[in-house]
Amino acid sequence: MATIRLGCIADDFTGATDLAGNLVRAGMRVVQAIGVPRGPLEEDVDAVVIALKSRTIPADQAVTQSLAALAWLRNAGARQVYFKYCSTFDSTPRGNIGPVTEALMEALGTDFTIACPAFPENGRTVYKGYLFAGDVPLDESGMKDHPLTPMNDANLVRVMQAQSKGRVGLVDYRTVAAGAEAIRARFDALRREGVSVAIVDAISDADLHRLGPALAGMPLVTAGSGVAIGLAANWGITPAAQAASLPAPGGFRAVVSGSCSVATRGQVAAFLAAGGRAFALDARALSADASHAEALATTAAASLSQGPVLVYSTTDPEAVRAVQGQLGVERAGALVEAALARVACHLVERGVRQLVVAGGETSGAVVQALGVDCLRIGQAIDPGVPWCAARSPVAGGTVHLALKSGNFGSEDFFLKAFDRLAAFP
Ligand code: ADP
Repeated sequence: MATIRLGCIADDFTGATDLAGNLVRAGMRVVQAIGVPRGPLEEDVDAVVIALKSRTIPADQAVTQSLAALAWLRNAGARQVYFKYCSTFDSTPRGNIGPVTEALMEALGTDFTIACPAFPENGRTVYKGYLFAGDVPLDESGMKDHPLTPMNDANLVRVMQAQSKGRVGLVDYRTVAAGAEAIRARFDALRREGVSVAIVDAISDADLHRLGPALAGMPLVTAGSGVAIGLAANWGITPAAQAASLPAPGGFRAVVSGSCSVATRGQVAAFLAAGGRAFALDARALSADASHAEALATTAAASLSQGPVLVYSTTDPEAVRAVQGQLGVERAGALVEAALARVACHLVERGVRQLVVAGGETSGAVVQALGVDCLRIGQAIDPGVPWCAARSPVAGGTVHLALKSGNFGSEDFFLKAFDRLAAFP
């Protein structure tokens, strides 16, 4: 069995992809697992990111799942563990960042770690312990109104303290600016004072690169995805295109889109305007006749040999509201997701091996239907959306997947994704 260096536990799926992308950019070969893998990994990689769905579940369940992930990662040889949460520190006074961090520390037998959601490239900076989203403190950003994890305090020392048993301290930006040695000295001083978790300031990517070497050998790192950019060098790994190399793609090409977000609507419109072969799934017809999806998939599959096909339920907010009014929000969503997952399976059965899926929930449904549990992460098509290679029992082998969150990607995403895959090394 291959031995990994960095073992990561992410509290949601897109966050896991985000972290995996940063590790690949830093030169690490990465597999993203959907949930805790059932067996050992076949591939030889530097890092594994286990994607959980533990951000907003009860804290005790988040702890149990995270400890199961930790056990798998240690068994796979992970020499350092990275607990990844959102760069807006999404949590409530009950957790789950604090309880999961402390449970991982206990299991690893360590008395000190850091917490740093900073990702300056994406506008997330930490200054004197205060987290900024763009130009405003977190509690003045859209996060104050988040339906599940409203963030009403930007001071991370206070936020983390409220959900921790141990003491929380701060490594401020002046120390970070002074470099790895100064940061390590501050870690030692905080530790002597009885602090177990240090919030670390970072206002630039350079800060994260200075922080990286100070984290060498630390059993547990907790952070957003930004801190990852400074870690690979600790193992002598430097950025290299080969880290993102995937098996050669083959088969037919298709896009399945269940996202109704603004960016996806633009991408569907651009695909249609360019004369692409596109097939619209009618959510109303679906509720009346379950075979509508299969009929559509069969029609779409018939033209696969002529180039990429698009099957989409993507539509404008008015049409979505009308369907939701008729079927109920949840039922409409579940019905369309299940139908698109069946369409994706049908297309793969008919020879599609390069598949773009638009929509977070839609991607989850498609990946599950294809029986995919591990993704080898390749190069990004656009920020946050890499091509991945996965083994699928439905494909009877490898299928290349690009799983796109609704609002990600440029307008020509559906057109350029396949060209990019063909051009990758
Ligand atoms: P995004 O990443 O843009 O949020 P998701 O796939 O996560 O996309 O969510 C889109 C939701 O909308 C899914 O539950 C999907 O089934 C649902 N949906 C898609 N098309 C329609 C439609 N035409 N009518 C009603 N609901 C739809």
